[in-house]
Amino acid sequence: MISKSMYELGAQPSPIRKLFNYGQIQAKKLGPDHVFDFTLGSPSVPMPSKVAQCWEKLNREIDPVALHTYTVSAGRPEARQAIVDDLNERYHTHYGPGDLYLSCGAAASLCAVFKALTLDHQSKILAMAPFFPEYRNFVESKGGKFDYVPAAADFRVNLEALKEAIDASTQGVIINSPNNPGGKIYTREELKTLASLLEEKSRNFGHPIYLISDEPYRELAYDGLEVPWIPSIYKNSIICYSWSKSFSIPGERIGYTLVPPEAEDAKELYLAISGAARTMGYVCAPALAQRVIESCIKERPDLQPYEENRQLLYGSLSEMGYNCVHPDGAFYLFVKAPNGDGSAFSEMAMEKNVLIVPGVGFGCPDYVRISYCVPNDRIRRALPLFRDLLAQACGR
Ligand code: PLP
Repeated sequence: MISKSMYELGAQPSPIRKLFNYGQIQAKKLGPDHVFDFTLGSPSVPMPSKVAQCWEKLNREIDPVALHTYTVSAGRPEARQAIVDDLNERYHTHYGPGDLYLSCGAAASLCAVFKALTLDHQSKILAMAPFFPEYRNFVESKGGKFDYVPAAADFRVNLEALKEAIDASTQGVIINSPNNPGGKIYTREELKTLASLLEEKSRNFGHPIYLISDEPYRELAYDGLEVPWIPSIYKNSIICYSWSKSFSIPGERIGYTLVPPEAEDAKELYLAISGAARTMGYVCAPALAQRVIESCIKERPDLQPYEENRQLLYGSLSEMGYNCVHPDGAFYLFVKAPNGDGSAFSEMAMEKNVLIVPGVGFGCPDYVRISYCVPNDRIRRALPLFRDLLAQACGR
């Protein structure tokens, strides 16, 4: 018998994909310049040039059989060593290659972590709105319960709501900073208060509540803002990292899971993550990408194009009268729908071929998300349409 829940997921593209697909059809009909697609979070800047050169060099110089062979399940020891050396240098830590498991991107890391934690229908993973919509599918498909607390008024850590929501069944809390879709970066101070809450709740309930940090946007922080290293604030943390956004290689599927050795039951947890990756067929992240990471670990993305887009979009929409969440990082602008209904506003925008994502899937139904990882010119040309939409939504 075919799984009904899996069938439904497969048969129904995500609302983001649906809008994107609509945009592709409209672009064929009207010409690409008449469609303003702000849907996907796919990087628009080329990969760092050293990464591109390395990719090409490896393909040219290494025997293809050796280059494309299986690696050990956790990833090449040399690659894991290079990654932990870089982390140890940046964050004054003492990790070893045995603390890190290379994965097929943050999505695979998250799935392995959720599968490794005992999630039955009683146990819960908590998020804070706004959150990445796929978390729900990742958790529920592993047998767990996904729940979230509403966004705090300022989109910071909603401590009060979390205090209420964490109960004996809570196995983990997931955070994503810099955030998709809100762009917020949690400060060290607010993370410390979150850590104190999790410590207290773990003591009260007699089991660790892991803080799962989903970090595909770690390197995309503006204005020199610090993205604090979570395990230095809370010992029971698990890091799910990815190079999809920072190296502009989302299709190449490379990231890692890090279990800091000071976390409770770290060794067992690491082995359970390895076991989970094995059952899901995620053994051995793409071999060529592993070698690229190994050689290019110090490379960082060129933030200038995103920075220009951020300033243009945030500045222009705020000036028009939109209520926008100020983005500290990532490449999304989260905007309050001027008519108070993100889905209705997204539909209104769609009629003008401006494609923006309703906030309901992120846990904020009165918002829309505008991805600004797009050519600058697309934003510029869409600004008059955003002005018209505001007038239309406000009945002016
Ligand atoms: N988490 C968040 C918050 C994301 O925005 C994304 C991708 O957009 C992912 C995880 C998945 O990233 P990856 O490509 O590394 O699987």
